[in-house]
Amino acid sequence: MIYYNSTRGGEKNITASQAILKGLACDGGLFMPDRIPEFDFNVKDLCGKTYQEIAYEVMKLYLTDYTKEELCECIAGAYDEKFDTEEIAPITYADGAYYLELYHGATIAFKDMALSILPHLMTVAAKKNNVSDKIIILTATSGDTGKAAMAGFADVPGTGIIVFFPKGGVSHIQQLQMTTQRGANVTAVAIHGNFDDAQTGVKKIFGDAEFAEELRKKGVRLSSANSINIGRLVPQIVYYVYSYVKLLECGRIGENGKINISVPTGNFGNILAAYMAKCMGLPVDRLICASNDNKVLYDFFETGVYDKNREFVLTDSPSMDILVSSNLERLIYLSSGCDAQCNSRLMESLSRTGEYEVSSSMKDYMRDFAGGYADEERVHKKIKDLYDRTGYVIDTHTGVAAAVYEDYRNRTKDDKVTVIASTASPYKFSKAVVGAITGQAEGDDFEIIDRLSEISNTSVPNAVKELKTLEVRHKAECEKDNMKETVRQAIDWIS
Ligand SMILES: *Cc1c(COP(=O)(O)O)cnc(C)c1O
Repeated sequence: MIYYNSTRGGEKNITASQAILKGLACDGGLFMPDRIPEFDFNVKDLCGKTYQEIAYEVMKLYLTDYTKEELCECIAGAYDEKFDTEEIAPITYADGAYYLELYHGATIAFKDMALSILPHLMTVAAKKNNVSDKIIILTATSGDTGKAAMAGFADVPGTGIIVFFPKGGVSHIQQLQMTTQRGANVTAVAIHGNFDDAQTGVKKIFGDAEFAEELRKKGVRLSSANSINIGRLVPQIVYYVYSYVKLLECGRIGENGKINISVPTGNFGNILAAYMAKCMGLPVDRLICASNDNKVLYDFFETGVYDKNREFVLTDSPSMDILVSSNLERLIYLSSGCDAQCNSRLMESLSRTGEYEVSSSMKDYMRDFAGGYADEERVHKKIKDLYDRTGYVIDTHTGVAAAVYEDYRNRTKDDKVTVIASTASPYKFSKAVVGAITGQAEGDDFEIIDRLSEISNTSVPNAVKELKTLEVRHKAECEKDNMKETVRQAIDWIS
């Protein structure tokens, strides 16, 4: 059995299903397994297996209190026709690297990989722990997470979801994606404020014990779908193993051949999953941590000092515009030898002063990570170059990872086979992508989307096409000081 402990020491030895139900530990820490399990199979024996079969082999090592039947049901319910390809996460070779396309799910961004299974993991967890309350997911979003969570939880029995997004603070397409979402148990509310206001409001509601009690009497409990939930991290390990198996199958690498992985990073969840795959036994050499102009992580890997006291830059890769990467706490914890006291001290320093410094042995532990960053001009050039050479089109987030990888390779001459995590469909960021390739992107969103279809010679994904005609169902707005009352009412509409 694997048990889970808080990275801050305040909660110990809970089961996987309990950790998934809780999300965040009560001391503010994140849950980590008491050891990182090793593969109990040879990777080469996974050749020929489907995504779903590989998902089971990997996830069973972490979710040890789920039965085989339960886990297989969760996997089957998640990775089905919601994805537009049976491969679930296909891999495409272009100009010296392998792009692992994580955007074939319902909302055409990589958050679908975890958020399509989390609701299933959560409802099974509720059953296992005799929780009969309805679980209401409360999320603040700057764009991608909100829609992926709504799509994941839509019409899942025993759950509901309320998403707050900043009015005017998300792209037109992102807003349409949320406000047109179907499902009797979902709602999206525009708040009069920015993303931080939404996030702060949600955290306040989570911390409101009196409100929790009031809801408990109605048979409702709140939970979170943010990337700090271990139920999001574990499913993300799967596709790195899957990509390795694909490379083995096509003979691009031999048994135990090492690969590098480059990941466009924001909250540090996706790249941490790649690192955990390595710790489990996947032959991975370097983890290339790619940042945009908000390069806190690059500076951290260079100096050992994490310093969020800097200007926040708005970029064309908004899902990476982050100054506090929550999942880095898990790496800090591992690098200290799972010393919760040491980790708590550093996190306390972060919240008090906005910075902390790790010891030299901790820094040494992290030497598998190579930090890099690319500014807007560099990213646009990479997107255009790749298109000019191959016709393959990538989005702005993937562009960051591709540019940083190219610079890494030129600098180090390390030419190992490399997988680049491709985290969003270019159609999700059409304006920036078409602008980068053609030098101009005038016109409304849907005109630009049609232009992208022409130049990339691909068809517009359904998820985008349908937005033109779908009915807008969620029109509620609220003041930032009135979120609790909004939640109270929303729980009645969606129950
Ligand atoms: C969320 C997101 C990222 C960042 O992933 P993290 O796990 O937060 O590091 C990168 N690209 C896209 C498109 C995203 O939606």
